[in-house]
Amino acid sequence: MTRIAVQPPAPSTFPTDQPETGVRLHRVICVGRNYADHAREMGNDPDREPPFFFLKPAGAVVPSGRTIPYPPATDDLHHEAELAVLIGTGGADIAPERALAHVWGQAAANDLTRRDLQARAKQMRRPWDMAKGFDNSAVLGTLHNGADLDGDRSIRCRVDGALRQEAPLSAMIWPVAEIIAHLSRLLTLQPGDLILTGTPAGVGPIARGQTCTVEIDGLTPATVTLD
Ligand code: MN
Repeated sequence: MTRIAVQPPAPSTFPTDQPETGVRLHRVICVGRNYADHAREMGNDPDREPPFFFLKPAGAVVPSGRTIPYPPATDDLHHEAELAVLIGTGGADIAPERALAHVWGQAAANDLTRRDLQARAKQMRRPWDMAKGFDNSAVLGTLHNGADLDGDRSIRCRVDGALRQEAPLSAMIWPVAEIIAHLSRLLTLQPGDLILTGTPAGVGPIARGQTCTVEIDGLTPATVTLD
């Protein structure tokens, strides 16, 4: 038996709506510019630029309800309200018609972003990792088992109760099944992969002391307070 000299932090267990059942995460895969009105507010043309992907480490995710320190190295922390989808069964080259069978569940999530660092990275054609993948950079609500994505559901974001973002999930440029199919041609999806499916227009700052809540009809809200 090999002695382990260096041990990473133990993985967090995240709550679900199933009795005594938690889940662990493998990684977080985020979709960029998946709502046309948000692509436009960031100065892009949604018709000409298909969605793309970036990653956050699994260890960056915090469960809903926490108070977190205001992140370092930024003066412009932004909220991004997103539907999160958890892969339960992995796979590669998944057909869109089979994609939802790979989903374990779904949750409300917040893709916290150091917008000033992201703007600088874009300007200098550098990677987004430090703008997106920092400590506590994703807030995850209770995971609801099931892949039923039908119905006319809306996503909203409130800061101290004031409505900042609101859109129907049907406004996504790429629906969940197509995101999974596309991703599975770029990498082998694994159980515990959490896909954040993009944010609608209305992104903006959260200040110290404020509470930000992401609501999706039918799901438990995802809340975070900044210290
Ligand atoms: Mn996002």
